[in-house]
Amino acid sequence: IAPIDIAKIRADFPILHQEVNGRPLVYFDNAASTQKPQVVIDAISEYYSTINSNVHRGVHHLSQLATDAFELSRQKVKTHINAEHLHEVLFTKGTTDSINLLTSTMSQGFVKAGEEIIISALEHHSNIVPWQMLCEKTGAILRVIPMNENGELIMEEYKKLLNEKTRVVAFNHVSNALGTINPAKEMIALAHDVDAVVMIDGAQAVPHMDVDVQDLDADFYAFSAHKLYGPTGIGILYGKEKWLEELPPYQGGGEMIKEVTFEKTTYAGLPHKFEAGTPNIEAGVVLGTAIDYVNEIGLDNIAAYENELLQYGQAKLAEFENMRFIGQAKNKASVISFLLGDIHPYDAGVILDKMGIAVRTGHHCTQPIMKFYNIPGTVRASFSFYNTKEEIDLMVEGLRKVEQMLG
Ligand code: PMP
Repeated sequence: IAPIDIAKIRADFPILHQEVNGRPLVYFDNAASTQKPQVVIDAISEYYSTINSNVHRGVHHLSQLATDAFELSRQKVKTHINAEHLHEVLFTKGTTDSINLLTSTMSQGFVKAGEEIIISALEHHSNIVPWQMLCEKTGAILRVIPMNENGELIMEEYKKLLNEKTRVVAFNHVSNALGTINPAKEMIALAHDVDAVVMIDGAQAVPHMDVDVQDLDADFYAFSAHKLYGPTGIGILYGKEKWLEELPPYQGGGEMIKEVTFEKTTYAGLPHKFEAGTPNIEAGVVLGTAIDYVNEIGLDNIAAYENELLQYGQAKLAEFENMRFIGQAKNKASVISFLLGDIHPYDAGVILDKMGIAVRTGHHCTQPIMKFYNIPGTVRASFSFYNTKEEIDLMVEGLRKVEQMLG
């Protein structure tokens, strides 16, 4: 593990060097979206300045350059998550789109009436609602793995839910609301024991840890570029070849066909079968740049430093007499969800913003978690490797102010 050169890293992120409400910006909303390093910003401009063109259909020079750059990025994703085949990496619009691709295609015969879909109590709405829609369409039944007070899934209950009717198990690798890291590898193995197919929502895992889809033995793995220091509008669905071959196409249109006649259309092979229409080419290309950037720092180094911030932040916040941590899993990513006395999280967030500190407040697209704790929402500080202990001290100072004003 190498130490993070924080001065050098912060210099890479131009947006961090500004004042908000007369104070230096402290950006602690990284679980919602991360900021972009200069190399990523430059790569966007470079794409439009030099090779912008449509992909996969042109014989001309620019189209070939754009296609090569787009496909090189697919290769970088493949290597990064250690997929076995390049065509197992599908470009989508983001995690939400990846999950909807899957539920939509699985609704067409893959999942049958009476079969069971297992999700978890920790899911983001985007890994709940699409499965509910699939259940409505197919007559499948939704089951939910419960969690304990610490915000950890209860493995004994999960084992009880698994049976020969279980068709799909879908859960997040890391919870965006609480930071809980789920024991994905063990959970996948248990699901495979009953021949269920597993989809992992990796939106919050990929930015913080080394993910190896073959080691996990995940059948599907979804994530978004914008949480990995890349652009919005692009994401990935990894899928094992045998499932992607078996599932029908998602959307119909250009790019995804082999031959079209009015009588019958045949579909393109992988990955194009699932990539109808012109993709977000620039964002696809630049995702590769973002991956290069985090790999230069090293995900193990990132994980170690972010854990240091987490431990420091938790210790500092624990000094408040009225601090209530929401979710205290043993295995946690750098997310702290909390409430200060009976101060409404929204009010705390507004006052922190006045002091230049960006946190997220509310239900974090996880209303069932808020219902579990019987709270309206939380204040959530989520750290990236460009954050510092000094910034955490500023948040603590801000929270003292919040307490004075509203406590
Ligand atoms: N799942 C998790 C765990 C998330 O944190 C998010 C983003 N907050 C999503 C899914 C949805 O990602 P996107 O909005 O990029 O599609």
